[in-house]
Amino acid sequence: MIDPKPTASHFIDGAYVDDPAGAPIPVIYPATGKEIARVHAATPSLIDSALAAARRAQPAWAAMSGPERGRILRRAADLIRERNRELSELETMDTGKPIQETLVADATSGADALEYFGGLAASLTGEHIQLADGDFVYTRREALGVCVGIGAWNYPTQIACWKAAPALACGNTMVFKPSESTPLAALKVAEILKEAGLPDGVFNVVNGAGEVGAALVGDPRVDKVSLTGSVPTGKKVYAQAAAQMKHVTMELGGKSPMVVFEDADIDAAVSGAILGNFYSSGQVCSNGTRVFVQKDIQDAFLSRLAERLKNAVIGDPLDEQVSFGPMVSEGQMNIVLNYIAKGVEEGARIVAGGKRADREGFFVEPTVFADVTDDMVIAREEIFGPVMCVLAFDTEDEVMTRANATEYGLAAGVFTRDLTRAHRVVAGFEAGTCYINTYNDAPVEAPFGGVKASGVGRENSKEAINHYSEVKSVYVKIGEVEAPF
Ligand code: NAD
Repeated sequence: MIDPKPTASHFIDGAYVDDPAGAPIPVIYPATGKEIARVHAATPSLIDSALAAARRAQPAWAAMSGPERGRILRRAADLIRERNRELSELETMDTGKPIQETLVADATSGADALEYFGGLAASLTGEHIQLADGDFVYTRREALGVCVGIGAWNYPTQIACWKAAPALACGNTMVFKPSESTPLAALKVAEILKEAGLPDGVFNVVNGAGEVGAALVGDPRVDKVSLTGSVPTGKKVYAQAAAQMKHVTMELGGKSPMVVFEDADIDAAVSGAILGNFYSSGQVCSNGTRVFVQKDIQDAFLSRLAERLKNAVIGDPLDEQVSFGPMVSEGQMNIVLNYIAKGVEEGARIVAGGKRADREGFFVEPTVFADVTDDMVIAREEIFGPVMCVLAFDTEDEVMTRANATEYGLAAGVFTRDLTRAHRVVAGFEAGTCYINTYNDAPVEAPFGGVKASGVGRENSKEAINHYSEVKSVYVKIGEVEAPF
């Protein structure tokens, strides 16, 4: 087992640095509640040196050829895959997610992003636009400059890579701030990028809470901010960035619908509902937490679901047999338990779970509520824990109206064997990321992101390039220049 203690709290200008004057941030292993490491929040002078390093490194990094930049990113992807075991153990200690999951979903998806954008780096081009009389315009795709990445605690390695890979491929540099709940994994990403040949200052990591994030966002040396976090934080960060007209990507929260029609393959729908509510103990932004089930099959769906939940193995997430881990923190566990109490108080019926698990650590049982109605708090607010709400519906028209009646719009899914209906339904969803007969897959090749309050911009895929670069338009005159006088 790896030792989770980092070499130091921050990675700036190609080296680990620390300043014990910064507020201490204990790293708690969620399965035991015990401290396993400690970092210090970045002090103003460290924040300044990270931004100065990123600014200094940017012109030379952008001046390198795309293939050269891409080669470094792809080398980092290979190193991450070689070290998947130790990175997965670290991710599990940082977050409490089962090693069974982290071995296949975290460092590996980070490596996918570095490989994908490493490949794209060589193919970034502008265009040639022919005009009358031989004149033409060409466009240059240019880097934005210094980007700030701010992460949530549910996917620390993946978020660091999903932001760094497209940013760096386009010739930007980055200062990344992980969540204060999970400060360890991004430091390893920085270390590996350096080992892969990344020039000093191109990717920096500073730890700290919201104040450190706000200091980065408000600094005039920063050209773009990419946040993964909650909607309230997103509104603050977006407003602060807007004051200096900075580019933003906002990957925020959701309360996504999953609609199961009576003709669906029930086992597939139950699998989708499990993946979309209990993976990472429910701490996934795109989760389909409002499961609308057509009335005729509701009983069959609920009994199949309750049977399947008995197979969940709750325990130490470092044990490969365990498939369900704790909440990331005591605070998050208490938020979830309060929502469960609220659901009971509002009259929803518990079909499974409903309690804190009887063991040390921050475990909440996988919980299913039936008889949920649209007005209940548990059906309207993002819980960010293992709590599924099952709502009954009669008709397609009715369910579409109800599914879209939310301020959020991150994801949505439908289970049906009717091909025409499947496409009609996803066309009607007010959501950025949709699924037909599956839920929560997020391959790097596909755009990912939300509409409405769930966000701005897209991560992954070629779309992300548009959010980490801008287009300069150059008019070239071939004919004579005519002037009125
Ligand atoms: P959070 O909003 O509390 O914090 C997110 C990050 O923002 C943290 O690093 C935090 O330190 C920082 N922050 C807080 N205040 C700030 C400020 N004023 N200025 C700058 N930075 C600030 O979110 P969380 O609790 O860490 O994560 C859970 C939330 O993230 C959920 O709402 C979830 O849906 C969302 N999320 C979204 C996606 C997505 O891709 N759409 C992915 C994962 C998580």
